[in-house]
Amino acid sequence: GKIDKMSAEVVDSNPYSRLMALQRMGIVENYERIRTKTVAVVGVGGVGSVAAEMLTRCGVGRLLIYDYDKVELANMNRLFFRPEHCGMTKTDAARKTLQEINPDVEVESYTMNITTLQGFDAFKSSLLGPDGVSSRVDLVLSCVDNYEARITINQVCLELHQTWMESGVSEDAVAGHIQLLVPGLTACFQCVPPLVVASGIDERTLKREGVCAASLPTTMGIVAGMLVQAALKHLLGFGTVSKYLGYNSLKDFFPTMEIKPSAACVNSLCCKLQQEEEARRNSPEARAARA
Ligand code: ATP
Ligand code: ZN
Repeated sequence: GKIDKMSAEVVDSNPYSRLMALQRMGIVENYERIRTKTVAVVGVGGVGSVAAEMLTRCGVGRLLIYDYDKVELANMNRLFFRPEHCGMTKTDAARKTLQEINPDVEVESYTMNITTLQGFDAFKSSLLGPDGVSSRVDLVLSCVDNYEARITINQVCLELHQTWMESGVSEDAVAGHIQLLVPGLTACFQCVPPLVVASGIDERTLKREGVCAASLPTTMGIVAGMLVQAALKHLLGFGTVSKYLGYNSLKDFFPTMEIKPSAACVNSLCCKLQQEEEARRNSPEARAARA
């Protein structure tokens, strides 16, 4: 009895056994696979830092984190960072905290601006595997807050045939969205006018010069949760991952949509990958497999 009780306590105090229960309950086939996954989180601000923490607590194998900014007192209305982090780079502060939470996760931090010419190349090569041509990451999560950075992530992911997920919070802080982007298969970030958010407001037009954006830890936390939930489903193959999932906090509305790729996309590489995908679908092998 005593021994049984002790081993039960050991199991209960092991955070991993609670995650493995997903397997026993038939939700996930092999939860342990999470340890073999590599995820890149680009931008560790209000959404990215929380997403990185969730992945760390879920036991992801390797995290690559990117940001160029420092932690400021103005960031304290968000989650994750603490006043004692002020002045540190977000990447250093995040790596330190994440490794304290779960030392089994390999955290690589990249303090860089991904949109400069040099940054673009450094970002792309950081994702490359030992063969120097294909990606070593399983998923890229975009948690940046501007159009240029999203265009950079879109381009790098098209070049590497890398599946990624985009996230965004509206400037009025009461809406957000996530989107799944699979090169050649789904819309790329340039296929449709940017960020058709649930509110119908284009975030780019909303960004007013000199006007401070609103920010809520609630909306950012919810969007980070939606993003990592979609990432877990994608990485471990359970449930369905919507192409687009919105969140409108004023109406408690979570719209989903299919976003089809556009044959007239301004990004020529996207068009090329769409044509290759179409050719694959129509190949004799694919037809035979479907029959
Ligand atoms: P705010 O703009 O409201 O002051 P923020 O800059 O922290 O806040 P968030 O939405 O919380 O914005 O997070 C976005 C994160 O993405 C920031 O930490 C920002 O530094 C990072 N980021 C944006 N663009 C780039 C880029 N080109 N390269 C690297 N990191 C970027
Ligand atoms: Zn496109």
